[in-house]
Amino acid sequence: MRRLIAAALIIGGASAAQGQAPVLPRVHVLATGGTISNLGNDARRTGDELIAAIPALGKIARVTVEQFSNVASGSVTQDMWRDLAKRIAALQAGPDAPAGYVITHGTDTMEETAYFLGLTVGGCSPVLVTGAMRQANAVGADGPANLLNAVRVAVAPAARGRGTMVLMNDEIFAARDVTKSNTSRMNAFSAPDAGVLGLADPDTVVFHRAAPEGGSTCRRAPFDLATLGAFPRVDVIYAHIGADSVAVEAAVAAGARGLVVAGVGRGGSTPSQGRALRRARDQGVVVATSNRTGSGRVGSGGVSDSLEKLPAGAGANVGSAELNPQKARILLMLALAAKYRPADIARLFEVR
Ligand code: ASP
Repeated sequence: MRRLIAAALIIGGASAAQGQAPVLPRVHVLATGGTISNLGNDARRTGDELIAAIPALGKIARVTVEQFSNVASGSVTQDMWRDLAKRIAALQAGPDAPAGYVITHGTDTMEETAYFLGLTVGGCSPVLVTGAMRQANAVGADGPANLLNAVRVAVAPAARGRGTMVLMNDEIFAARDVTKSNTSRMNAFSAPDAGVLGLADPDTVVFHRAAPEGGSTCRRAPFDLATLGAFPRVDVIYAHIGADSVAVEAAVAAGARGLVVAGVGRGGSTPSQGRALRRARDQGVVVATSNRTGSGRVGSGGVSDSLEKLPAGAGANVGSAELNPQKARILLMLALAAKYRPADIARLFEVR
């Protein structure tokens, strides 16, 4: 169960109170845990403590902090995703709405939370998800720099209208594009197909690609959580030589309404998996084909020649475009919750 502790720390309010300097924009930090807060031996810093350790923030923003949870990111749940997105929506609609949001989060599943928020949070105010590769008390801890940079990006005019992004190691990534591609290095995050979206350099924040509509239009979230029902079960099936039908059958027996194939090459699976996937599809399960290579597209009609193919263009068989399996799972889950038809789901995967 997550604990919600009311915003407790405000940094950066002094200059406004003196009436001299311009009022700084407000950035709201939602701290969820992860290595950025980890001190080892089950001890964790709070969001307040993380912010208090970075006095430079006081010149950039009025930072308010909320302790949403304090867990390793493997313990983040889909219910927490829903609560987080709804919390941001409530803040957006409330008084003194923040100019931007920063979520501190464990890096292991950061890309999933960021993508979920990217699909469910609209508005003009950017959402930056950040964390750390080195724990809070490590020599050369990267958390403070990441947090400082995330706040800088959150207040950058050029970030408006860009939705949810990840900030790690001075690099800005779009939520759809980013993945953790190394277990331990400081540059563990990458965007294999689309590339880095921008940089938080010491002198300025730069973006390499224009914001949608030049940043003039606020985003409408692709999915409206207010109207979505329960999230259906969607499982990932990993393809490899020797894989049989067991995982597919178990997932269907457990009630999966969608399956994502982490396929070989351009989305292939073994003959045994392929037969089980066709049976699942015949029972109404939507099968989205992704791949285990780490980059590259799988279209709705194209799968690898190397192993068994699912028939191209079959009603409930869609390609995941360049989305990796863990991200394809989120999009398929939301699309099924929103009751999209398979043909529309196929199109949805292609919408950037
Ligand atoms: N195990 C950590 C997590 O919560 C790893 C990290 O934050 O880098 O994801």
